[in-house]
Amino acid sequence: MLDIQNFIDGSFTHALDGESIDDYNPATAQRIATIPRSKFADVELAVTAAQSAQSDWSALTLEQRAQWLDRIADALEEKTEDIARTESVDTGKPIELARRIDAARSVSNFRFFASLGRQQTEMIFEMPDAMNYVHRSPVGTVGLITPWNLPLYLLTWKVAPALLMGNTIIAKPSEITPLTANLLAETLLELGLPNGVFNLVHGLGPEVGQALLEHPKVKAISFTGGTETGRIVARTAAPMFKKLSLELGGKNATVILKDADLDYAVDGAVLAAFTNSGQVCLCGSRIFIDADIVEQFTQRFVEKVNAIQVGDPMDERTTMGSVISPEHLLKVESYIDLAIEEGGTVLTGGTREMTGFNGPQGIGAFLQPTVVGGLPHTSRCATEEIFGPMVTLHTFTTETEALEMVNSSEYGLAGSVWTTDLERGRIFSEKIDTGIVWVNTWLHRDLRTPFGGVKNSGVGREGGQWSLDFFSEMTNVCIKNPDSN
Ligand code: NAD
Repeated sequence: MLDIQNFIDGSFTHALDGESIDDYNPATAQRIATIPRSKFADVELAVTAAQSAQSDWSALTLEQRAQWLDRIADALEEKTEDIARTESVDTGKPIELARRIDAARSVSNFRFFASLGRQQTEMIFEMPDAMNYVHRSPVGTVGLITPWNLPLYLLTWKVAPALLMGNTIIAKPSEITPLTANLLAETLLELGLPNGVFNLVHGLGPEVGQALLEHPKVKAISFTGGTETGRIVARTAAPMFKKLSLELGGKNATVILKDADLDYAVDGAVLAAFTNSGQVCLCGSRIFIDADIVEQFTQRFVEKVNAIQVGDPMDERTTMGSVISPEHLLKVESYIDLAIEEGGTVLTGGTREMTGFNGPQGIGAFLQPTVVGGLPHTSRCATEEIFGPMVTLHTFTTETEALEMVNSSEYGLAGSVWTTDLERGRIFSEKIDTGIVWVNTWLHRDLRTPFGGVKNSGVGREGGQWSLDFFSEMTNVCIKNPDSN
């Protein structure tokens, strides 16, 4: 059992009122840690620490802060195994996945932004009689609020650019997965990052998260989480004119065109559907298939899904672990019941048994990957974000019909299109109302590219220069020499 504490002004400390909440391993149902149930007073302490660290941190050069990011990347890389195990225990995801995706990306987030910092050039705009240049300053103290599905991956995606641009940070990770944020704080303490530059407050969203949103000295909020929470964040922070970045939910489409390379497309669609038990905001949970190939596709897709090894996250052979919690398991199961009520057919899955797992069955939050056919694309199961190991299959006869179905969603985060005709794929992609589209691939990320959604999937973009713009304020300085007429 770990006794996790807040990290404020370079010290680990319990919540001021001493209250705590429990953290569980969803694969074993064991209580693994307690974390502070922080409130406004704890946020106040963190803000005071951040504000007093601000001027020294922002006085460093971009190169000096890039060096900090490289040091953090190196230190995290040395802890790869620790990060992977911790993330796996906290989320129920397979250790192999946690190592390959969560740990690796947490390191590369810091390396990437260090390198991007070094590539910055001055923005200069010459006029016949004057010159303009853009001076960047930090926003100040920023609040970073993150979800449970990719805990350290998504937190470091915000921490790295925020530090690079000279901000001080108050991070609020999900109360369901607090452990790797704590590991990051320990690492920063070991490295000697100046006190108050990075602060971490744990607790419940409506309490400590809300306090962070409401604090007048927190100048920007970068939020990743659900759409409903995003509405609360916007409602609270927008009237205070805080800078806001909102990365929200999705109900992404996977579109299999008639000329797709079928085996390749099946592999891609399975990966897009069930990576991390379908708990990636980019997961393709609605699959649209051309009627001409629907039979072959469905047969191969179901076969491939049946080969997924659902089991002990610590077993290297496991390809799908548990879902995040027993409550989430019940939510996903309620959608399977709803699918049947709505007239759908469960083609595979829908049960709790584990394959390839020798431990006791029925304790952890495990669910077989579930494929449902026969539902209209307007059904609740095909329109609401389930965020679990369940997908719906739909058939189209023309590409126009496919586009209408895909774009009928209130979400617009990501999608993928599978075809051997790359030009056709390109034209189709540009007509999807979404922030990200992949053609013949999924979750293939170049960190320089814009990341974010449209419609109910969010406002703004992260990634590359977009993150640097968010975490800085730009002042245009226009200089005229009085001698030049
Ligand atoms: P959530 O919205 O419940 O929680 C996200 C974070 O917000 C948590 O830290 C939570 O404690 C905090 N929070 C909750 N209420 C708050 C409040 N009133 N004020 C301030 N903070 C508050 O989301 P979740 O269940 O942790 O994560 C799953 C959701 O995140 C899914 O909808 C998924 O699609 C989305 N997501 C989006 C992206 C993206 O990049 N677009 C990435 C990952 C996850």
